[in-house]
Amino acid sequence: MAELPGIVITGASGRMGQMLVHTVMASDAARLVACVERTGHPWVGRDVGACMGGGDIGVLVTDDPLEAFARAQAVIDFTVPAATVEFAALAAQARAVHVIGTTGLEAEHLGRIAAASRHAVIVRAGNMSLGVNLLVQLTRKVAAALDADWDIEVVEAHHRMKVDAPSGTALMLGEAAAEGRGVVLDDVADRGRDGITGARGRGRIGFAAIRGGDVVGEHDVIFAADGERIVLRHLATDRAIFARGALKAALWGQGQKPGEYDMLDVLGL
Ligand code: NAP
Repeated sequence: MAELPGIVITGASGRMGQMLVHTVMASDAARLVACVERTGHPWVGRDVGACMGGGDIGVLVTDDPLEAFARAQAVIDFTVPAATVEFAALAAQARAVHVIGTTGLEAEHLGRIAAASRHAVIVRAGNMSLGVNLLVQLTRKVAAALDADWDIEVVEAHHRMKVDAPSGTALMLGEAAAEGRGVVLDDVADRGRDGITGARGRGRIGFAAIRGGDVVGEHDVIFAADGERIVLRHLATDRAIFARGALKAALWGQGQKPGEYDMLDVLGL
């Protein structure tokens, strides 16, 4: 029988990292071959099961990503932009599928990821859940059906530890709204308002971010006109939805041509 695809999880000690370890260990379609953390991290050299407070599971945490990636068919990466661009080059070198959940990536990071995708399969999405990816499609359709008499606002809430704003998901939703309207998001985005900002500009797409407590992720796309409002909403209550989507992407990527893909490709939406 063919061996199951081997997976490496980077940033295994993180909120998403630990969820991914549980998800891959519970899967009968993939096997966990290694976890990666930074040099000097207290988990390096130890069994990841024990690090997470359970028994040994026979999978070590290493600070040598290339050696680990070379033993795997896919890398699942929810870390930070600076680490993700390094991992993209190494995963391409190892010919492993690179699933990127990291958000807050800027143009320079995206350029380096695009370069790596010339040699390897990369699946990148600011949100890996089925529900949000459906919401992206709905947002595009509703935005295409309505004219600029309808003001579009994207409002999101996340836990107090989140470091980037607007969230990757909010930006995906904003992109979808802009595409539906046939405009470029960067030309119309209002990212945060404070002080005497003047009246809202027609055709702008606004973003607002709430941070607090342990909120996993909440997103509203509001279409507001005179006398009526449409609100499209997604509420995430469990990080497992992102981990399951990421594993699905890692399996889907096997045998695809090199290039950059997103969850709409994976989910066939
Ligand atoms: P987190 O708890 O801070 O975890 C990040 C992990 O990455 C930490 O374990 C961190 O280790 C590790 N890390 C940082 N630099 C590293 C390096 N050079 N090598 C190896 N590991 C490194 O954050 P989180 O809540 O899990 O979120 C992680 C990312 O995923 C964020 O960008 C978040 O927005 C995104 N996210 C995406 C989705 C999606 O569906 N696309 C869903 C949820 C979250 P240290 O603690 O030692 O720094």
